[in-house]
Amino acid sequence: MSQIKTEVLIIGGGIGGAAIARELSKYKVDATLVEKGPDVGQGITKCSSTIMCQGSNVLEFRSEYHNSRLVWAGMTMMEPLCKELDIPLKRIGSLELIKNQEEMRHPEKMMRRFKEYKGKYIPDEVEPLQFIDRDTLRSWEPNVNKSYLGALYDPNIAVNDPVRLTIALADNARKNGIKVLLDTEVMSISKGTDEFEVCTNNGSIKCRYIINAAGEYVGKIAQMADADDFALYPVKSYQAVLDKKLGGIINHMVLSNENGMVAPTIHGNLFFGISPGTQRLGKAHDHSTDKKLADAALKNAQELVPGISERDITNSFVGFIVFRNFEIGWHECTVGVSRWVPRFINASIGFPGICAAPAVAKEMIDILRNQGLQLTENPDFDPYEKSMPDFSELSDEEKRQIIAKDPKYGHVVCRCETVTEGEIVEAIKRGARTLDGVKFRCRPGMGRCQGGFCGPRVTKILARELGISEEEVTKKGGESRNLLYKSKELLEAQQ
Ligand SMILES: Cc1cc2nc3c(=O)[nH]c(=O)nc-3n(C[C@H](O)[C@H](O)[C@H](O)COP(=O)(O)OP(=O)(O)OC[C@H]3O[C@@H](n4cnc5c(N)ncnc54)[C@H](O)[C@@H]3O)c2cc1C
Repeated sequence: MSQIKTEVLIIGGGIGGAAIARELSKYKVDATLVEKGPDVGQGITKCSSTIMCQGSNVLEFRSEYHNSRLVWAGMTMMEPLCKELDIPLKRIGSLELIKNQEEMRHPEKMMRRFKEYKGKYIPDEVEPLQFIDRDTLRSWEPNVNKSYLGALYDPNIAVNDPVRLTIALADNARKNGIKVLLDTEVMSISKGTDEFEVCTNNGSIKCRYIINAAGEYVGKIAQMADADDFALYPVKSYQAVLDKKLGGIINHMVLSNENGMVAPTIHGNLFFGISPGTQRLGKAHDHSTDKKLADAALKNAQELVPGISERDITNSFVGFIVFRNFEIGWHECTVGVSRWVPRFINASIGFPGICAAPAVAKEMIDILRNQGLQLTENPDFDPYEKSMPDFSELSDEEKRQIIAKDPKYGHVVCRCETVTEGEIVEAIKRGARTLDGVKFRCRPGMGRCQGGFCGPRVTKILARELGISEEEVTKKGGESRNLLYKSKELLEAQQ
């Protein structure tokens, strides 16, 4: 078991922890991020709806809450950040559908708030909202339920890929000097006068500052240091992903107050989900989906877009939105130094934590300084990353050139998403160690067959590239092995 010393320890490699690590790498500081899983971005971040809240969906926030200020501050940070890290971000715009006069009240409230907040809380560059009538709605979105009278159109809403963003943030932090330790789970924390001693499954870590960015487990980690001066309520939220063949059925995020939303992803398929707050079913850490939740979400989605059928669902999952408390719900967050334990900082945004992450990371620098950490700029900081090319999106000529250099790009492994062996090998070179690690970097297994066809082939490539047996390849670390033994061994054991 190892023993290491670091000045700042970040617990959790979700979007929050990774953004903080990257922000800290702009300074000369000895900092370490620990993540219990084999990869970053696989906690709540993986379950997000991928919507970048930078328009009407931030107008619900009220100025008296810290969460609102972080989300508003983050609005202008996401696009430049994605550019630096070479992560695609696409403005899809949203349409809040209006069924009757009664339902007009909400969009009208948003229009009023837009005028009131513009320039004061939300940046001037945010584009104006606009009512569109029934005919315009039908011409823009012919597959949306025809009974709607019109919609509130917000051109600002965007989508990106939060897991790829998290991976890029962690890679960039590592490149700029932050240590990133995967498969390292914090088990207990003891407090000394000047430092903490953190016990992990891989040994102990002595540190002066702790940033607790453990997502769903923020409360559990805070309890380890008696720093849990807050209560959190996990709210279970359900999401379903649809076959790519339905991709073009809608182009905007469509939503209604009653029926949740349906939206395109950055990768060209659709998803829908039950919006947070409607299902307060949070039995902490129970990630099972259930039929009641799935049926309710599908019914909602069909109300918005009748062409969606159960057969189009390729995957579904739940995630937890960590609410500060029921009364103020997603309005408030848990970002700040514990009132009881100096130098112990909690960093959890319930919703929308992806959008707020860049602002949380910036605020963390001020908090650390106020807690006594000396931070001088890192003159060698390099903000840029280059993401893997998406082979299927390249022109024929570009494809020919890449295949000429490396024939593995001429071998398609995942037929649903057209992912080549070359891309899978590149994903492994860039840190993927599991089937999910490969899947979230270049998408084999994200399509209709959900890995039924390509899974065994990706397993073979992982085993070959990592120099391990196929039985040792896991879906997401730990005991999540897909192959338990070779069938011949089973036969021999039975004889
Ligand atoms: C269904 C759903 C939809 C959402 N949609 C959006 C959206 O559209 N836009 C938006 O901005 N936000 C959205 N959110 C919110 C957003 O996803 C979260 O706020 C954000 O991902 C939280 O990130 P995090 O880093 O705090 O937590 P996480 O991503 O959970 O990261 C915490 C990490 O800590 C690790 N960890 C836990 N315990 C330990 C330990 N003991 N030792 C070491 N590591 C540990 C975990 O493995 C995990 O990787 C959505 C959330 C849900 C559930």
